[in-house]
Amino acid sequence: LAQRRIRVAIVGAGLGGVACAVNLQRIGNVDLHVFEKEDGPGGVWWSNRYPGCEVDVDSRAYSYSFKPHDWSRTHASHSEVQGYVESVIERFELSDRLHFGVTVLSARWDDGLSVYEVETSRGSEGNFDVFVSCVGLLSSPNRPRWDGGDSFIGEIVHSSDVTSVDGLQGKRVALVGAGSTACQLGPILAPSVQQLDLYQREPGYVLPKKERELTRSERDAFLRRPVRTKLRRWRLLYEANKAYEAFDTDSRAQAKIRSFHNEYLRRTVDDSQIRDALTPTYPYGCKRPVFASQFYRMFNRPNVSLVPHAVSHLTSSGVVDATGCERPADVVIAATGFHAAEFLHELSVQGRGGVNLQDAWQGEPSAFLGMTVPGFPNFFILYGPNTNGGWSMIAQLERQSEVVARVVRRLVSGRVTFVDTSPSVARRYDRWIQTHIRKNRSATEAGCHNYYHTPSGKNVTQWPMTHFSYLVLTKVLPYFGFRWGRHHAGKAVSESASVTELDEVFGQ
Ligand SMILES: Cc1cc2nc3c(=O)[nH]c(=O)nc-3n(C[C@H](O)[C@H](O)[C@H](O)COP(=O)(O)OP(=O)(O)OC[C@H]3O[C@@H](n4cnc5c(N)ncnc54)[C@H](O)[C@@H]3O)c2cc1C
Repeated sequence: LAQRRIRVAIVGAGLGGVACAVNLQRIGNVDLHVFEKEDGPGGVWWSNRYPGCEVDVDSRAYSYSFKPHDWSRTHASHSEVQGYVESVIERFELSDRLHFGVTVLSARWDDGLSVYEVETSRGSEGNFDVFVSCVGLLSSPNRPRWDGGDSFIGEIVHSSDVTSVDGLQGKRVALVGAGSTACQLGPILAPSVQQLDLYQREPGYVLPKKERELTRSERDAFLRRPVRTKLRRWRLLYEANKAYEAFDTDSRAQAKIRSFHNEYLRRTVDDSQIRDALTPTYPYGCKRPVFASQFYRMFNRPNVSLVPHAVSHLTSSGVVDATGCERPADVVIAATGFHAAEFLHELSVQGRGGVNLQDAWQGEPSAFLGMTVPGFPNFFILYGPNTNGGWSMIAQLERQSEVVARVVRRLVSGRVTFVDTSPSVARRYDRWIQTHIRKNRSATEAGCHNYYHTPSGKNVTQWPMTHFSYLVLTKVLPYFGFRWGRHHAGKAVSESASVTELDEVFGQ
């Protein structure tokens, strides 16, 4: 069989889109297009430049296995990660494949031709054999619309709009939220502003990050001795796996980390009332744990107040909390996170029979391996449902890009023109994931406010096992869940699935 040239559309040039592009570029015979709505690559690292923004996993784990980097610190700043992404693009000569300032609006599967028709903000981009969403989990900011917001005479911004402390000096700032972003941003703002009020709906577990500059010899050893690089990364993986044990509420690790946290809080915050208000009442792991060494200490400053309540509404000159107490503010910064559980809600994807992805999900996104959805052939999601966690997200994204590359390689071979997912295997997979969440990650289900759940209460974001388990599953499970086929005279012909299974997939 003659090889086919496969046209691939990737949406998003964050670390997922770039990993995918690198792995597909290696195949050859692939016409690759990466569409990015922003004016540059990097994804979250392009769009979040607030002071203090940096990784909270060890930098040496936060890099592709195929491109180790000479990180200057244990926890790289957003600009260092941004530089890293750009160096990968340069090293693998991907620039020509990237289209910046182009928003993908829709992709519609044409069953007769086995292609997606892709529409972007600049019009029709034509047909693509494979459509890959790399829009990430945290690329759509959650901008609360508070009552009274229109009458507020100051400025209301999302944390992703803040790029420096300039303009905030001497101001009264209301920082809303107590997640990772607020914990990174708050301590940088505090010395510059006149007053900082931090609005906390619920306290989180904040732990020291142990960040520091890497020594020259550590950097040399990591970069120039490949065996040492690998060993260091495996050790970081092992440590991450150990840390995740605490996400089981019945584990000894849970009790240990809670007492460590409470002791850390006692040592760092002077005022016992503030300490009480900062102490979580739910298990460690219910919310995403925060690693930030200066956050608690910030409350010892005279110009910083903890408001242990949600924001109720705004007035023309201030913020009113849930108890009705108003505090004056010149600027409100919403460190309120992103629409994580609403996967691909800004993108319209239609699969077989014109079925819309959101209709197929009915408010509860799920995907086989977090990547594929029955009835949506040749469509892949990176950072999809229930893939968040395990270790550094880059590692998860790499495994996913490898799955896409294996499929594309097979499509290039010319033997098949599409791959779909068995609905029964996908259903079983989803049930299995949910069982493991309840078992291994019971803390995430303990009932606090977190970004993991749909309004119906299903945990759709978290990966409940280790990265190593995910690595193995991405190698093995496609043999069971993927159904290959080709089109002959405009009709889908199965190659690997039983007729019953294909009937079920295609509803024929
Ligand atoms: C502040 C912050 C800190 C983080 N720290 C860590 C950390 O320490 N460790 C860790 O493992 N993870 C961390 N994460 C998670 C982070 O999301 C992942 O590590 C990783 O960067 C995700 O990459 P991605 O490419 O999947 O998604 P993103 O980086 O979100 O990239 C998605 C891209 O898709 C683009 N896009 C979206 N919709 C469209 C469209 N319709 N058309 C065109 N383009 C589109 C977006 O503009 C964006 O550039 C952090 C996230 C944030 C926000």
